[in-house]
Amino acid sequence: MTDTSALYQELILDHNRRPRNFRVLPDATVEERGINPLCGDELTLFLRMDDDRIVDASFQGSGCAISRASASVMTTLVKGKTRAEADAMVEQFRGMATGRAATDDDLPSPLRAFSGVARLPQRVKCAVLAWHTLHAALRIESSEMREREGSQR
Ligand code: ZN
Repeated sequence: MTDTSALYQELILDHNRRPRNFRVLPDATVEERGINPLCGDELTLFLRMDDDRIVDASFQGSGCAISRASASVMTTLVKGKTRAEADAMVEQFRGMATGRAATDDDLPSPLRAFSGVARLPQRVKCAVLAWHTLHAALRIESSEMREREGSQR
């Protein structure tokens, strides 16, 4: 194991032991559940959106170390991002984790910690679960906002 992969391993272990933003977000504007039946990972993602920007993000749930660490890292990185920026990050992460794209040097380093899962097919779904859920949550949020604007309440 190289020093770099040991460091990355440490980052994943740390986020698993002390997940960041591991709580319910009482003023969330969107809430989305994600499940990876292959491993039994479950999570609920909470986002608070202000127009097009994610102002807060948190998650709850249970799952393996990879799924928890991935959700934890994700919530720290998407705060303050616009919908488009968050979507771009989802694509980058998926590309890397599934081995479709080379690991991007522009990718924030905590995300690069997960590049090794591309070699572990049974862990890929664990790593991308939070990102799939984010992708779905961003879709829901925009359709709900359109509905709310359409109604007079
Ligand atoms: Zn898992």
